[in-house]
Amino acid sequence: MKKQPGGLLLTYDSDKMSVIEKINNAKSPLFTFELLPPLKGHSIERIYTAIDRLIDFDPAYINFTSHRNETSYSERSDGLIEKKVVRIRPGTIALAAAVKYKYNITVVPHILCGGFSKEETENALIEMNFLGIDDVLALRGDPPKGTRRFVPEKDGHSNAFELVKQIAGMNRGKYLEESLVDTTPTNFCIGVAGYPEKHFEAPNLQADIENLKLKVDSGACYIVTQMFFDNSKFLAFRDEVRKAGITVPVIAGLKPISALYDIKLLPQAFHIDLPNDLVSAVQKCTTDKEAREVGIEWATMQSKGLLKEKVPGIHYYTLGRSDNVARIVKASF
Ligand SMILES: Cc1cc2nc3c(=O)[nH]c(=O)nc-3n(C[C@H](O)[C@H](O)[C@H](O)COP(=O)(O)OP(=O)(O)OC[C@H]3O[C@@H](n4cnc5c(N)ncnc54)[C@H](O)[C@@H]3O)c2cc1C
Repeated sequence: MKKQPGGLLLTYDSDKMSVIEKINNAKSPLFTFELLPPLKGHSIERIYTAIDRLIDFDPAYINFTSHRNETSYSERSDGLIEKKVVRIRPGTIALAAAVKYKYNITVVPHILCGGFSKEETENALIEMNFLGIDDVLALRGDPPKGTRRFVPEKDGHSNAFELVKQIAGMNRGKYLEESLVDTTPTNFCIGVAGYPEKHFEAPNLQADIENLKLKVDSGACYIVTQMFFDNSKFLAFRDEVRKAGITVPVIAGLKPISALYDIKLLPQAFHIDLPNDLVSAVQKCTTDKEAREVGIEWATMQSKGLLKEKVPGIHYYTLGRSDNVARIVKASF
């Protein structure tokens, strides 16, 4: 347990281990989870409430998602269309730092290619370094809502492996401004995303795994998978990853179904398949509450199966809800 009575940390005893050190030193699979920054205008207390429900299960680390700017169009009273660019969930790095020091826990902010120039990325990494955050999940990011093609920022990265290379370069003291001398190398442990059901843009799984290898060869220490609902897909993916010569740990990503609509939303949003038994069980439900129960049962079954397969860790996508994850972890680990 990390929290002191009354939620106060009397002395700061930093949890210095990086994700890869935690995986390598673990005697049993790690439990980890992911949170979204609050919507703009909402309080960090919501995040603390979500963490408080899970902290007693001793999570090894907590991830915080990152969100690019979004463009919205609305009609003004004079009939003209107004374009607005907003970041609806800002604050990933500050949130990660606040949680790190409140709970004395390793935190993993996500960092994106989309919406960031290389210099903005470098500045974000410098901030993280100054804040004592040495873990990062490096991602390309999706195309902006309503568009199909990912377009990098001017002077930004097109693919996650380029971002990994930039971070790995900083770990060797290499900054964008080559004239800098006597630089202090950073010490980032870099994670990347993997897709048991293939990334939706990849022509086939083999090509996608070749890209994954490129990310690992560029400096990533471990892989976290996209959510999946059929363990056999994860296990087949893991076999293919090993066949491709990728040796780093592969953490399994799970998302419990939490509403009736999830069986439509998740395949659309994340390009994944749902097994028929799960779909039928959710279709028999009449309320979100009932669907959540099905989701808890299914994710518990998946978790137990994965633990038997000796995965290095299970990473839960909470998408803002943590009470169901608490029940799954209590029943499985
Ligand atoms: C664990 C996890 C966490 C996530 N967190 C976030 C988040 O916080 N915020 C967010 O916006 N999104 C997040 N995502 C979603 C992610 O940004 C999208 O899935 C995105 O579309 C791809 O990101 P990537 O890092 O996998 O991209 P990449 O690894 O760059 O791959 C993207 C596509 O390009 C292809 N590709 C890559 N390199 C090459 C190459 N050299 N030649 C040819 N093809 C290539 C790949 O095969 C793939 O189809 C997350 C996903 C996962 C699995």
